[in-house]
Amino acid sequence: MSDVERTPVENTLGSGSVGLVTPGSIVEPADELLLPREVPLGGPRAMLVRRTLPNRVRRMVGAWCFVDYYGPADITGQAGMQVPPHPHTGLQTVSWLLRGEVLHRDSLGSTQLIRPGELSLMTAGHGISHAEESPAEHGAVLHGVQLWVALPAAHRDRPAEFAHHSDLPVVREPGGTITVIMGELAGARSAARTFSPLVGAELAVAAGRELTVPLDPGFEHAVLALSADSTVDGSPTPVGALRYLGGGRRAVRIASERPVRALLLGGAPFEEQLVMWWNLVGRSHEEIVQARSQWEAERAAADPHGRFGSVSGYAGPPLAAPALPNAELRARGREGRPPLR
Ligand code: MN
Repeated sequence: MSDVERTPVENTLGSGSVGLVTPGSIVEPADELLLPREVPLGGPRAMLVRRTLPNRVRRMVGAWCFVDYYGPADITGQAGMQVPPHPHTGLQTVSWLLRGEVLHRDSLGSTQLIRPGELSLMTAGHGISHAEESPAEHGAVLHGVQLWVALPAAHRDRPAEFAHHSDLPVVREPGGTITVIMGELAGARSAARTFSPLVGAELAVAAGRELTVPLDPGFEHAVLALSADSTVDGSPTPVGALRYLGGGRRAVRIASERPVRALLLGGAPFEEQLVMWWNLVGRSHEEIVQARSQWEAERAAADPHGRFGSVSGYAGPPLAAPALPNAELRARGREGRPPLR
């Protein structure tokens, strides 16, 4: 997906611990409900997504730095998702569907139809471009998430790669199931490549049951509600909201009277400062300016051999980069600013 947000407006409720964390320190348990804001997704036929990360008071959970939730949307007779080719740097994109399908194409030549329960993982590294669209023949409903994982310094300039995982481990528990998307959870490990200690899992809870999910107390965690009427450790969590739990916890309980799904995200606190702008993750204003101008030059020249390559098969031109803000882009840490009182 592509971030086209120009003027972020953010909401939060019931903020818990918001303090400074020194490198290597342990993150305390917290309970913050981060409410989503609606953002139009890239392209001329924009679709609204609900974004919970980055947020004014919290920018990351482990290396997870971007959380967009969309649908369920009835796209019968419509184009559905149409995100033209756009660049990425310094991150991995994690595509996860609950319903429907999305066709991914990238500048490595990958063409992949993504279906529910399958992980498409694109590691941008130094640079890649991709397009995402609902295929011409598509189901009635589109429902899913798009997540970004920041790459640590040692890996952020690595060559780009794309992998699709359709055989993720599923752990069956009395209250429901745990699909391990990335990292290790409940004794099962995903084959997906990670570059910092992190976990991502889909939790499916049976009606009237409670699913207890074991957590690594050295990680910080958050739960994204993918259905209405779910509770996280007993606290009602609206659909599309992200409940940040902090660290030091050994388990989290998801429960509902109805069958519900949720996404668990966690990881070791990411201590590097990042500059996130548009679809680019870097470490300085200058890096972002350089990547932006390279994209713009390669796009204008239709250069398939540049930093970002070119995407074949998408019916439309690549996305133009937005104008840079007047102010210098600043590197920021994992936590945002304290909430306004
Ligand atoms: Mn993208």
